[in-house]
Amino acid sequence: MSEVIRTAGLTKDYDGQKAVDDLHMHVRQGQIYGFLGQNGAGKTTTIRMLLGLIKPTEGRIEIFGEHLPEKQKDILRRIGSIVEFSGFYENLTAKENLLINAKLKGVHKRNALEEALEIVGLHNEHKKLVGNYSLGMKQRLGIARAILHHPELLVLDEPTNGLDPIGIKEIRRLIKALAEERKITILISSHILSEVEQVADHIGIIHKGKLLEEVSFEEMRRRNRKYLEFQVSNDNKAAMLLEKFFQITDYEVHGEGHIRVYSHIGEQGKLNKLFVDQGIEVTKIAASEDKLEDYFVKLIGGGTIG
Ligand code: ATP
Repeated sequence: MSEVIRTAGLTKDYDGQKAVDDLHMHVRQGQIYGFLGQNGAGKTTTIRMLLGLIKPTEGRIEIFGEHLPEKQKDILRRIGSIVEFSGFYENLTAKENLLINAKLKGVHKRNALEEALEIVGLHNEHKKLVGNYSLGMKQRLGIARAILHHPELLVLDEPTNGLDPIGIKEIRRLIKALAEERKITILISSHILSEVEQVADHIGIIHKGKLLEEVSFEEMRRRNRKYLEFQVSNDNKAAMLLEKFFQITDYEVHGEGHIRVYSHIGEQGKLNKLFVDQGIEVTKIAASEDKLEDYFVKLIGGGTIG
């Protein structure tokens, strides 16, 4: 899978303070990459640098394998974005607004506007003045504008800020559809873990300007899987019994009598009985409480997220 965004040592200094600090970011083709961080973590600053809106103090940016800023014009033609909501003309309709943007972007395809409005579910509302749109509708119109020119990469800075739960759900559905049906790579920033978790397949966690971790959700969930932990008098024998009597293979022996079982959660009674019946002494049984959210809180050093 090729890399769509790659930064190396990306840094932005404001008055001696590093808003973004030595960022090595990797977004691959086809990913929905959730860029998660608390307010002030450096998400918008990073995104602004990726879009050539501000200059990095240090570091390199490659998008589609090309260097920014040398190839900025070519690169930006292939990107759609919503960064800091730039307004629409409230006294014009959605279609009239998009028409202005289509002209600015050199989009001449006849049904490009209808198509974009249809994707975001506003095709029946295109005659309404944008001033009468809800915030969620305006945000969807923003996405329509961002995809007018068929970008390969969509960059969305906090697209659900201020939306109600239904608006958030619509944006989520839309993002997934754009990734699946149109094969657009998507970078979406947010400060809400649960939101990122529901839409993204990869995540980059930024904290105080530093990228703490870049990982797939699959890997993240694997690491944070629930398990039962037993402390037993003979862990090797316990493991053998789990396989023989319950066909359990998803376990880890951690030494000194500790054994973790990643399946049969909720059946600790049965497993305990098996061990005891077979002459193994069980001194402790515990179910892990390690959830994704706790992991993030640990990662960012006790602050809150989500
Ligand atoms: P939020 O979710 O609140 O938008 P963020 O993660 O996008 O947060 P940034 O807006 O990138 O964070 O800000 C990162 C840091 O850089 C903050 O401390 C902010 O005050 C500072 N900063 C951002 N822009 C400027 C600027 N133009 N001049 C000085 N400092 C700035």
